[in-house]
Amino acid sequence: MISDNKKRTGLVKGVFLVTLLYFSLGFVSILFGLSALLCMAIPFILLARYKRKLWCSAYCPRASLLLKTGTKKRNRPIPRQFSNGTLKKVMLWYFGVNLFFITGSTIQVAMGNMASMEYVRLFIAIPLLPLPQLLRLQAPPAIMHLSYRLYSMMLSSTLLGIALSRLYRPRIWCAICPVGTVSTALLKK
Ligand code: SF4
Repeated sequence: MISDNKKRTGLVKGVFLVTLLYFSLGFVSILFGLSALLCMAIPFILLARYKRKLWCSAYCPRASLLLKTGTKKRNRPIPRQFSNGTLKKVMLWYFGVNLFFITGSTIQVAMGNMASMEYVRLFIAIPLLPLPQLLRLQAPPAIMHLSYRLYSMMLSSTLLGIALSRLYRPRIWCAICPVGTVSTALLKK
């Protein structure tokens, strides 16, 4: 970890591999999907410790991946919704609703009120298939459900970020990323 007053000027080289590793490990065991919780917690732990968006400026694997996938051309105008706050609000709502569904449905599965959904589902509404599993690790249904839901949320937002990186510019996702938005709001406070 870097010292308090040392300023980083760019993302750590190769950190995009963490994103690829995360999605690959889902094929080893979907239980690795739970590590998304770490990805959600670490930015705010660093923010609390260093009082700046160190995750965004140095360590974010998604931003690193988007720099790899993004277009090098700049011929498409960026819609004003990216800069006027509209899409930030939309993504915050989407992220909040997603987390609400994930938490609520996991509790319902744990209580035996609903069956666990052990398949990938994109953007809350598009069901896909269960992932092939290299290791068939056993876990309670609620944990399997939570793993799939977190994996699905990470996959959906990563695919969206990649699509936007191809359409507009590599890190355009950062303009509407809920983690970035909440981090900025916390810093202002
Ligand atoms: S805004 Fe989001 S995607 Fe961009 S660097 Fe920060 S956490 Fe990563």
